[in-house]
Amino acid sequence: MTDIIIIGAGAAGLTAAIAAARHGAKVKILEHTNKAGKKILSTGNGKCNITNAFQDQTCYRGQEPSFAMEALKEFGVKDTLAFMESLGILCKEKNGYYYPRSEQAVTIREGLMMECARLGIDIQYEVNVTEIQRQQEKFLLYVNNAAKNNCDVNNPPACYSCRNLIIAAGSKAAPATGSDGSGYPLAQALGVKIVKPLPALVQLKCEESIYSQAAGVRCGAEVTIIIEGQEAARERGELQITKYGISGIVVMQLSRFAVKALDSRKEVMAVIDFFPDICQEELLQRLIDFTKKFSDRPLLDIMSGFMNRKLASSLLKELGVKSDRKGRTCHGAFLEDVAAGLKHFESSIIGFNGFLEAQVCQGGVSVNQICAKTMEVKEVPGLYFAGEILDIDGTCGGYNLQFAWSSGYLAGKSAALCQRSLGI
Ligand SMILES: Cc1cc2nc3c(=O)[nH]c(=O)nc-3n(C[C@H](O)[C@H](O)[C@H](O)COP(=O)(O)OP(=O)(O)OC[C@H]3O[C@@H](n4cnc5c(N)ncnc54)[C@H](O)[C@@H]3O)c2cc1C
Repeated sequence: MTDIIIIGAGAAGLTAAIAAARHGAKVKILEHTNKAGKKILSTGNGKCNITNAFQDQTCYRGQEPSFAMEALKEFGVKDTLAFMESLGILCKEKNGYYYPRSEQAVTIREGLMMECARLGIDIQYEVNVTEIQRQQEKFLLYVNNAAKNNCDVNNPPACYSCRNLIIAAGSKAAPATGSDGSGYPLAQALGVKIVKPLPALVQLKCEESIYSQAAGVRCGAEVTIIIEGQEAARERGELQITKYGISGIVVMQLSRFAVKALDSRKEVMAVIDFFPDICQEELLQRLIDFTKKFSDRPLLDIMSGFMNRKLASSLLKELGVKSDRKGRTCHGAFLEDVAAGLKHFESSIIGFNGFLEAQVCQGGVSVNQICAKTMEVKEVPGLYFAGEILDIDGTCGGYNLQFAWSSGYLAGKSAALCQRSLGI
C-alpha cells in the first residue's frame, strides 16, 4: 500500500507530492490525462503569474475567505519563492506580480516535474479515479470505472489503496486541461459538503447592441456591478468589448458577483464609466469647449478626439444621438446628457460564459470542514484537499496559484507527518 495517494497532477497535486516526499513519504499521483500540469502551461498568458507581493483577505473569495489567509500564514509568498528556488527556478517581480524569470510557464511545470522525478514520486497517467470508499483506516480508490467485484488492490491499475488521500482534482474551469469537475462527487461520497461550483474570472454577456458594434475595442474604464439596485462591487482597469458583452481584467475581477446573482435569478446591471480619470463636470466642460471650437465638425469627429472612434460611434447610437450632428447645434442640457451617458453607461447583464472559458471556479469543497493549517478534513482523518477544488477563488494577479502552492504544500507535509507519527 502506498503511503499517500494524490488525485490530480496540477499545481496543487504536484506541490503536495513534493512536500510529502520531502518529509519522507512514499507518494503516488493518479492523473486522468496523459500529462501533468497542463493548466500551469496556460497561466498568465504563458508566463505564469505565480504569486503576488500584496496579500490580504480581499484577494480571496468564497464563503470563508479568511481560510486562505490562515493557510498563507503557514505557507505564504516568501515560502513560495523559496520553494521555487528549491526547484531551481528564479523568479522576478513586476509591480508586485511574480513570474518565473524565464517568463515561461513551462519553467514552472518542468521544475515541478524534475523534482518529482528526483524524489521518486510515481505518477500514473490516464488513471481516472471514479469512486472512493473508506474502509476502516484505508481509502480504496476505484479507477477507470473498474468493476468493484473484480477489484484487487494488490493488482493495480483497477484499484488502489492508501491511508492518506489528498484530493487535488481541480474544479470545472478550463476542462480541456483535465479539470472536469469529477473531484466533486468523489468528495461528496466521502461526506464532504460542496458549495455549488460556478464560473468565476469569466466574461459577461450584455443585452445592448453596442457591444457587437464595438467588438474588439479595449479601453480604460471603471465598472460597477449593481445587483437588485445595490452596488455589489466596483473595479477600475482595462475593459475589453466583445461581440456579446464585456471582458478584460476589470470584468474578470467582478464577474463572480454577477454570476452568483444571475444564478439566483437576480437582476444584474453594470454601470460603466468610460472616463474614470475625469469627473463629469470636467468632461462636460471639455464637450462644451470642443463643440464651440470645432462647431462645423460632426459630433462623432469631436468625440473621436476623446475616445476610440468605433466605441464613440456605437455609444452615440445607443444614447440615441445622431453622430453627424454638428458641434454648433450641441448645447447645455443635450451635452449634459451625453456626458452623463459616457460616465454612467448602464448595461443589463444577461449571462456569462461557461466553465469552458472561465479561468477559475467559485464554490467547491466547503472549507469550514477543513483545518486551514493541515488541509485535513476535520471529520475524516487521513483525507486532505488542496487547490481549486476548495471553495476559495482568488482574484486575478497570482492568487489562485498562490492558494494552490499553499494548500498543496500544507496537505502534503501534514499527510507525511501524520503517516510518520502513526509509525506506518
Ligand atoms: C487560462 C488560465 C490562466 C490562468 N492564469 C493564472 C495566473 O497567471 N495566475 C494564477 O494564480 N492563476 C491562474 N489561473 C488559475 C490557476 O491556473 C488554477 O487555479 C490552478 O492551476 C489550479 O490548480 P489545481 O492543481 O488546484 O487544479 P488543476 O490544475 O486543474 O489540476 C487538477 C488535476 O486533476 C486531474 N483530475 C481531475 N479529476 C481527476 C480524476 N477523477 N482522476 C484523476 N485525475 C483527475 C486533472 O486532469 C488535473 O490535472 C489561470 C487559469 C486559466 C484557465
